[in-house]
Amino acid sequence: TADLKHNQGFKGHDMLAPFTAGWQSADLHPLVIEKSEGCYVYDINGKKYLDALAGLWCTALGGNEPRLVAAATEQLNKLPFYHSFWNRTTKPSLDLAKELLESFTARKMAKAFFVNSGSEANDTQVKLVWYYNNALGRPNKKKFIARAKSYHGSTLIAASLSGLPALHQKFDLPAPFVLHTDCPHYWRFHLPGETEEEFSTRLATNLENLIQKEGPETIAAFIAEPVMGAGGVIPPPATYFEKIQAVVNKYDILFIADEVICAFGRLGTMYGCDKYNIKPDLVSVAKALSSAYMPIGAVLVSAEVSEVISSQSNELGVFSHGFTYSGHPVSCAVAIEALKIYKERNIVEKVNSISPKFQDGVKAFSDSPIIGEIRGTGLILGTEFTDNKSPNDPFPAGWGVGAYFGAQCEKHGMLVRVSGDNIMMSPPFIISPKEVDELISIYGKALKATEERVKE
Ligand code: PLP
Repeated sequence: TADLKHNQGFKGHDMLAPFTAGWQSADLHPLVIEKSEGCYVYDINGKKYLDALAGLWCTALGGNEPRLVAAATEQLNKLPFYHSFWNRTTKPSLDLAKELLESFTARKMAKAFFVNSGSEANDTQVKLVWYYNNALGRPNKKKFIARAKSYHGSTLIAASLSGLPALHQKFDLPAPFVLHTDCPHYWRFHLPGETEEEFSTRLATNLENLIQKEGPETIAAFIAEPVMGAGGVIPPPATYFEKIQAVVNKYDILFIADEVICAFGRLGTMYGCDKYNIKPDLVSVAKALSSAYMPIGAVLVSAEVSEVISSQSNELGVFSHGFTYSGHPVSCAVAIEALKIYKERNIVEKVNSISPKFQDGVKAFSDSPIIGEIRGTGLILGTEFTDNKSPNDPFPAGWGVGAYFGAQCEKHGMLVRVSGDNIMMSPPFIISPKEVDELISIYGKALKATEERVKE
């Protein structure tokens, strides 16, 4: 794989740089993507790749949806920008808020606050929750509980909420008001003989113990992704969310659903909350909201919370928060069109009809001696490479087994996400049966090559 310098790995080769976002340098030998078409992207040398991660879990409608381009162009011609401060706004921003609130049915959401990314959405959640508790006269109810291995973003607060050590080390994070509870990964963390339900009960008890130890009057909110994404694609074990939600409700703690990856159909339901019967107080969305054609995220706020926040009688005054590009009209116009397309094309149904082929096809490789677990639901899948099929026998980090697999996928024309020995895939919602066949075929070739290298 000498030609794959940007993506090497394995026994003495450079490891795949885990977090190169932002740094732009040709010395890093980046793969430079130039154009996209449906579920494919092309690099500057014209090589074609099946985009098995949909960009970064986000280009739900693939690479060249003309209606999204037209929506952006039309809006750019009409009004490329106006802000949404001081009770001024734009029509696309208002219209999108209405559509978005209507699309969420797990619980009635009353208000939408627009931001530019998932990280900003989660930072906004923290300020909202603090503001809410201040308005209610309980300023000490400030702490947040998130989960080990979660990913909530890269800004200081969102990185604090995240439960991935790399996001904390060397940054003096997490912030002191953030606590982490168990990662709900059954395969890795269950006790011998423990069923999924028993595992979920134990995790809910641990959460309750943590709340009691800290003092329930100090815990403001709990945040969770319905299916953990960047932590390795970890769907919740049976009965997990009902047990966790019961604990959270018992102590008057707000539930924030981070739907940045799961929303709009990824799991075969419009929202992850629909799938797991979560009744959140607050919801974060981004990514597929605009199918990633323009940056936009949003926070959805329940009627109960928004009433307190928007109450003019509270002595805190307005919620002083917002960004220049909050509710950017072009982003909103694209997002409105994306939501329209999801509805018109029955995108949730579409994901449901294609996902068994995707899930079963990839999970058929579960017997591989170098695979510990393949897990997922809908159009999201994680593969974890371990030795002896055991969560306790990782391959030596220097081998870069995951990176090698990723490089092999790339060689055969497919892009996946590699994080250590975890491989993640979340193809566009529009993936066809033929493209799923291709994905499985390339996965198989990359796996075979990786098995051979591990044996060497
Ligand atoms: N929350 C989740 C669940 C995510 O997966 C991500 C990004 O992958 C974020 C938040 C952060 O979003 P952004 O990168 O748009 O800031």
